[in-house]
Amino acid sequence: MKELIVATRNAGKLKEISRLCKEHGIVVLGLERFPELPEIEEDGESFAANAIKKAGFVTKETGLPCLADDSGLVVDALGGRPGIHSARYAGDNADDSANNRKLILAMQNVPDDRRQAAFCCVMAFSRPDSEPLLFEGQISGTILREPRGDGGFGYDPLFFIPEYGLTMAQLPLSKKNRISHRGQALMKVIETLGSLSF
Ligand code: IMP
Repeated sequence: MKELIVATRNAGKLKEISRLCKEHGIVVLGLERFPELPEIEEDGESFAANAIKKAGFVTKETGLPCLADDSGLVVDALGGRPGIHSARYAGDNADDSANNRKLILAMQNVPDDRRQAAFCCVMAFSRPDSEPLLFEGQISGTILREPRGDGGFGYDPLFFIPEYGLTMAQLPLSKKNRISHRGQALMKVIETLGSLSF
């Protein structure tokens, strides 16, 4: 039986990843099964570096395969910020609304035709004695001047997807999970892990 640890303390992410893995015969173990593992600091300089650090650490400590992700919002007009600092854009203890307020302010003088952004996600899969495998997903959109919709989390209410004419926060969760940066990376993970022995 294929078994892997998912290195996240986010219950929503764990549930979504577990559901897809189960459909493909892979058993997911949450981090709560390993209370001795410390919090892993995300201090890498890229999404990939953070994902590899988390997955590699868990595999080294437990001897088990591990999947870890890192994601964030990359805004063109802000030179790629908030990027890897998305969770703490407005400060160490910032919540989603403080981060969103800071983004609205940072973008207030950016004209409508220069507001492109992307949500990016990198997933790393590690196994003992193997190089980590990386999987990426991305979704493009534009940054609104005020929030719209109350679903999702993080920057979803400011992230407008032109093809749908809606923000990420206005999409039903099942739809968001299918088209999102994380959903796309996860589909690539599942395709590969289905044919890999571990
Ligand atoms: P993490 O990869 O879960 O640590 O996400 C880092 C940060 O990126 C989150 O705290 C959010 O601010 C932002 N982020 C990542 N994914 C999403 C998303 O799907 N919607 C909105 N914000 C997101």
